[in-house]
Amino acid sequence: MKYDKNNIFAKILRGEASAEKVYENEFVFCFKDIYPKSKIHILIIPKKEYLDIYDFSKNATTPEKESIFLAFENLIKFYKIEKSGCRIITNQGVDGRQEVPHLHFHLLGGNDTGKMTSI
Ligand code: AMP
Repeated sequence: MKYDKNNIFAKILRGEASAEKVYENEFVFCFKDIYPKSKIHILIIPKKEYLDIYDFSKNATTPEKESIFLAFENLIKFYKIEKSGCRIITNQGVDGRQEVPHLHFHLLGGNDTGKMTSI
């Protein structure tokens, strides 16, 4: 899988497609998933073009990495789910069934998110 500058998240970042923003910092943009799988379903994406978690782990700067965790912290606080909990996942590549080729984390919560998918 290669980075495609025309992927939908790149378009959202460039303001060419709309999204319901819930949080933003210097390096990260967060918005509601268009097909929510839980009451709360937020996508957390880096503003820079990273294909997936491996690309990001290898190439992102420390402030960019910290910003992802800062976003998690702020979203958990914002939705007041510190106690009830949530699931944060990222899909990578073919086996991970990644659909959009721009790194994204899913934050799911507001209800029981069910067991992890079976293998
Ligand atoms: P993944 O399978 O991990 O690549 O997840 C891609 C996610 O992006 C899915 O949960 C989609 O519902 C979501 N999605 C696709 N297009 C949009 C969009 N325009 N705005 C918000 N979420 C989107």
